[in-house]
Amino acid sequence: RPLLEVMDLVKTYGEGEAETRVLKGLDLQLETGELAALLGPSGSGKSTLLAILGTLMKPSSGKHVMLGEDLTKASDRDLTEFRNRHIGFVFQFHHLLPDFTALENVIFPSAVRAGRETWAARERGRELLARVGLEKRMDFLATKLSGGQKQRVAIARALMNQPELVLADEPTGNLDRGSATQVMELIAEINQNEKTTFLISTHDEKIADTCRRRIRVSDGLVE
Ligand code: ADP
Ligand code: ADP
Repeated sequence: RPLLEVMDLVKTYGEGEAETRVLKGLDLQLETGELAALLGPSGSGKSTLLAILGTLMKPSSGKHVMLGEDLTKASDRDLTEFRNRHIGFVFQFHHLLPDFTALENVIFPSAVRAGRETWAARERGRELLARVGLEKRMDFLATKLSGGQKQRVAIARALMNQPELVLADEPTGNLDRGSATQVMELIAEINQNEKTTFLISTHDEKIADTCRRRIRVSDGLVE
């Protein structure tokens, strides 16, 4: 069975005269271990789709199943728990806490959720930072890191809870070509080694070409 599946997904914003239909009955399946780029012009609904796949927003109608669970029927509380266990996020802007170190940034979100910071979590944070090539910079404040390094910290943070799926919204959008390539190489390596599934929105065809699958969204549907 696929890792996730959405069927006939519809999302509208606003009401009455102001109603805009953004997703118009979109179907998509992702298999475990895929590395997929999500392409489409600005305004085509990529962020909306990522927000729904990430359980951050509910569709207006349609079905959303992941790991065999019908998420369209889940309560908000169950969705939060599902998200924390199974989904990691990387954004265009890294959203690191500036006054905290790389390591603290990686472990804080899961520590907050767990209500405490465990020794095991700290070890996992260290391991992840080593994996993204930042073993020598774990204790640097976020503000002292380059753009590419910050995005690698954000990737380590997204992997903290061993998610099956990582959703990345324009993760290289704010980086120069060299750093963007490095970030994509890192994502490909993690995808290979851990079977973590990645869905990466981008409007950069060169970035999309580094992914094994390209999914094009156009006018609220997958082409
Ligand atoms: P993309 O990520 O492909 O640029 P989005 O999903 O961000 O597309 O947006 C798709 C369309 O939905 C755009 O026309 C945008 O203006 C509109 N939209 C997005 N979010 C909202 C919102 N919260 N309220 C109303 N319209 C929105
Ligand atoms: P808690 O979950 O209550 O925070 P931990 O399991 O993280 O407790 O750790 C308890 C103590 O044992 C900590 O002081 C930590 O340094 C130590 N500890 C835990 N696991 C190991 C380990 N594998 N090797 C060495 N010390 C450890």
